[in-house]
Amino acid sequence: MDEETSDRAWDAVVVGGGVAGLTAATFLARADEATLVVDAGGSILRRNAHLENFPGFPDGVDPRRLLSLQTEQAATAGATHATGRVTDVTAVEDGFRVTVAGGDPEDGTSDAGDPNDETDDGNTRDVGDSDATDATDATDATDATDGDAGDEPNDTTVLTTNRIVAATKNAVGYLDGVGVDLREHGKTFVETDERGRTGVPGLYAAGRLAGKPHQAAVCAGHGAEVAVTVLEDSDEPFYHDWVTPAGYFTDRGREVPPGCEEIDAAERERRGETARTATRETFAEPHPEPQETHPSLEPRGDET
Ligand SMILES: Cc1cc2nc3c(=O)[nH]c(=O)nc-3n(C[C@H](O)[C@H](O)[C@H](O)COP(=O)(O)OP(=O)(O)OC[C@H]3O[C@@H](n4cnc5c(N)ncnc54)[C@H](O)[C@@H]3O)c2cc1C
Repeated sequence: MDEETSDRAWDAVVVGGGVAGLTAATFLARADEATLVVDAGGSILRRNAHLENFPGFPDGVDPRRLLSLQTEQAATAGATHATGRVTDVTAVEDGFRVTVAGGDPEDGTSDAGDPNDETDDGNTRDVGDSDATDATDATDATDATDGDAGDEPNDTTVLTTNRIVAATKNAVGYLDGVGVDLREHGKTFVETDERGRTGVPGLYAAGRLAGKPHQAAVCAGHGAEVAVTVLEDSDEPFYHDWVTPAGYFTDRGREVPPGCEEIDAAERERRGETARTATRETFAEPHPEPQETHPSLEPRGDET
């Protein structure tokens, strides 16, 4: 097995690019944290047939579309997305060493416990198209699965980071070496406080992994909460991340709070038009990725 050490130190590595991890990454990157999402490519939400209880979609939304949009949103915010599997986390001074394997589902390094893992995740292709994930910024973790000739699926990369947000549903094997408290309740969960902090300083857990209820909106919301907690634990005691009309704070003699932005009417219209155009184009056609189901089941004849 080849191993490379990346000299890039991340402010935060988010392990798991499902709804919780992608939301956490968006919030962290919007706060200018150098954020890497490492995802093995198998969000359980991909098995949902039509997502009808996620806020903001009165007629529901294709769950694969939602994941693609969330991936794009994290990239727009500045996060980098890598396909790979985190196999080990070790505490070091001021942070963690994170080992990322290329993610070959057959190589026995899998600890995600999800037979969906061999699924090629179109989300990563979406992000790969974004300027925010310029190849110069991507880690070698992407190399092992980018399909280039000569890639060794067993390649590993060791990264360093100050903080980790673990958002891997019930996959915990990669945390064995870091001494985090686990809880068995049918499946395995990471023990956290009410804000997602584990007993290991700098290590947080979000979404289903932290024992949150098994709904996408709950797990996404928790990803946001945990990211804000990471920021508040660093140097922002009350972090906002709001976009407000011009003068909302300053015309009342107040400073713009951390993470806030005031925008004037012209900028509001520009952003609104960009959003309307993108939304029309995004939803014009069905999402190209196929329906997934439980791996123990054969695909039904009526599925395309
Ligand atoms: C059939 C089905 C239908 C559902 N329908 C609904 C519904 O209608 N409404 C609703 O609200 N919820 C629904 N859910 C539940 C919802 O999908 C989950 O609650 C939600 O996806 C959990 O989010 P999460 O981010 O915690 O985990 P996930 O979305 O599963 O994300 C975890 C990610 O971690 C990655 N990962 C795991 N191990 C590693 C590792 N070692 N290194 C790197 N990456 C790793 C995985 O590849 C995955 O992408 C449904 C679930 C199923 C199975």
